[in-house]
Amino acid sequence: MYPPRFEYAVAETLEEALAALERDGDEIKPLAGGQSLIPLMKLRFAAPAKLLDINRIGGLDGLAAQDGQLRIGALVRHKTCEQSELLKGKYGALGDAAPQISDPIVRNLGTVAGSLAHADPQGDWASVMLAVRAEVVARANGSERTIPIDELLQGPFTTSLEPREIVTEVRVPDPGARAGGTYLKLERKVGDFATAGVAVHVSMSNGTVDRAGIALTGVGPTNIRAEAAEQALAGHALDDDAIDEASRLAAEAAQPRADVRGTEEYKRNAIRVLTARGLRKVKEGHS
Ligand SMILES: Cc1cc2nc3c(=O)[nH]c(=O)nc-3n(C[C@H](O)[C@H](O)[C@H](O)COP(=O)(O)OP(=O)(O)OC[C@H]3O[C@@H](n4cnc5c(N)ncnc54)[C@H](O)[C@@H]3O)c2cc1C
Repeated sequence: MYPPRFEYAVAETLEEALAALERDGDEIKPLAGGQSLIPLMKLRFAAPAKLLDINRIGGLDGLAAQDGQLRIGALVRHKTCEQSELLKGKYGALGDAAPQISDPIVRNLGTVAGSLAHADPQGDWASVMLAVRAEVVARANGSERTIPIDELLQGPFTTSLEPREIVTEVRVPDPGARAGGTYLKLERKVGDFATAGVAVHVSMSNGTVDRAGIALTGVGPTNIRAEAAEQALAGHALDDDAIDEASRLAAEAAQPRADVRGTEEYKRNAIRVLTARGLRKVKEGHS
């Protein structure tokens, strides 16, 4: 199906983009990789009067560890994350997630920030960012604020971003050298959205878990932080008992619905198994 008629504008600078958003309010939408927005328009689930292409804005495509944090510019593509040497070890949850997003065509164009702004509960990045406690920087004409990822995700396809705001950067705090993580995803076939997915991220200190991040994909109205599971790990060695208990609690936190991808029970069990596998993988990385 063709999308409804829309105007197309290109912003050359961030200031120009912010001014256009301020002026046109609800009528205009930023276009990044277009890998979610264009399909939505073709399906007639979205019909913005104007698209503002932000791809030519300079300085938004950096991926770097800087000032005690990982900084991911708004135009960093999934593909860049897939190929980055930086997204290993302590940032392994990010590096492991990137190649599991759809196919090479989508990964060449789609952006991390676009995925977070889109807030599809089956999107993989939001779980990863919940696990690593990321925050997004949102700029508007004359203002800037930093939004913790838990506050960004409000509901299915709904965020706390205002229409006049652009995400300029995603920031991940440096978890320290004794940290690791991964992302595991059950999909019906390569390139599919998750039947269920789990991001795990663990910081260790003196042989015990200092802080754990566990977040779930595709099993709720938003990506879900498995808070009880995270807390159950804190202060404990990453042994079999702790892993089993955290996996049980992660499955309990899931709110799956039966659909073509499986029953509630199947998805809940997938969360349990993926959480345990993820934590074991992280443990192996530390032994
Ligand atoms: C066939 C197919 C399979 C896919 N499979 C997966 C999958 O397995 N896992 C997965 O996670 N995703 C999947 N996706 C989605 C893909 O990851 C998208 O790239 C991503 O969701 C959106 O990024 P984008 O840059 O393409 O955003 P766009 O489509 O350009 O925009 C999406 C939304 O975010 C807004 N937006 C974009 N950038 C910004 C910004 N900087 N500031 C404020 N608002 C912004 C737009 O206005 C729009 O509302 C798939 C997509 C397709 C087409």
